[in-house]
Amino acid sequence: MKRDLRSLDEDACMSIVKAMNEKPFRAKQLYEWIHRKRVFDIDGMTNLPMEMREKLKEEYITDPIKLEFKQVSDDKNAEKYIFSLQDGDCIECVWMRYKSGDSLCVSSQVGCRMGCTFCASTINGLSRNLTPGEILSQVYDVEAEHYGESGGRLSHIIVMGMGEPFDNYANLMSFIRILTSEKGRNLSARAISVSTCGLEYGIRKLADERLPITLALSLHAPDDELRNKIMPITASHPLSEVLDACREYFSKTGRRITWEYSMIQGVNDHAKHAEKLAELAVDMREKGCPVHINLIPLNPVKERVYGRSGEKTIVIFKKILEKYGINVTIRREMGSGIDAACGQLRRKVIG
Ligand code: SAH
Repeated sequence: MKRDLRSLDEDACMSIVKAMNEKPFRAKQLYEWIHRKRVFDIDGMTNLPMEMREKLKEEYITDPIKLEFKQVSDDKNAEKYIFSLQDGDCIECVWMRYKSGDSLCVSSQVGCRMGCTFCASTINGLSRNLTPGEILSQVYDVEAEHYGESGGRLSHIIVMGMGEPFDNYANLMSFIRILTSEKGRNLSARAISVSTCGLEYGIRKLADERLPITLALSLHAPDDELRNKIMPITASHPLSEVLDACREYFSKTGRRITWEYSMIQGVNDHAKHAEKLAELAVDMREKGCPVHINLIPLNPVKERVYGRSGEKTIVIFKKILEKYGINVTIRREMGSGIDAACGQLRRKVIG
């Protein structure tokens, strides 16, 4: 695989420029062409010396992902994109329109090795990590495709597509650094959310970056026993440790954590589960770490056995949590008509 120009952060641009014996200010120019002006035709980088442009063309590609197709929901509030990669595999991302602005849910890996039993992304395990350029390109290419020259932009970036972001930590951080850099897209870290299945070392590392990123924890069960049945990583990452890391995250960043809870019929949606979940949330609150709970109606996956909880069950579940003063929302359904659950559309494409 040829290296891609979009993976270059400011330091990497400087190293390249030095290796090419060019003046240091060329690094800033190169970075701005890629990440601010988004000019991906190297010949169009007009203020760079011809010789430097020729060398860049020899060594780098500028378009690591290619749009294969796009599906738009009936109400036009959600769009799903499938991109192919240089090695022939493909990834997906989902654009969504909210009152608060448009957001894009990006993938961080091809496949996933976390093994959650209700999720489509884990079916064939992990193929590979995405490079920073491949993650960024989802943002760049969807913005170009959706908004063109209209001046519209995404308001939020959610790392909640295919893959486990903390299993690809270095590339995730490089992606975030470029996206938030002043000379690049200059997006506020507050506009970024990262969702994890609960790798506590990743939560702690991100806490130490001291960035105001929103952390979402995919909880899906209120105790280790049940959680282990649907999320096998629980065996090596017990809840007590994950929740401890969440408290550290809140104390270091001041950002309230979201717990995601996919409602699976007959598995985790009983009133007793709501009571237990409430107990956990109240305990967190008492320890100084308030949480917001987001109930997600499961998107049934063809290859999986699980069904979605009924509407009534979800409402009862929500009421129990509210009785304890817990902040809870039911996720508005946006993409189920276009196979928008993690990894679903890609499976349709790869068969
Ligand atoms: N690996 C990360 C991010 C990717 S999954 C994580 O686990 O958080 C994004 C979210 O979608 C997670 O909360 C995941 O549990 C949930 N999810 C996956 N498949 C789903 C499905 N079929 N229906 C509803 N939610 C699903």
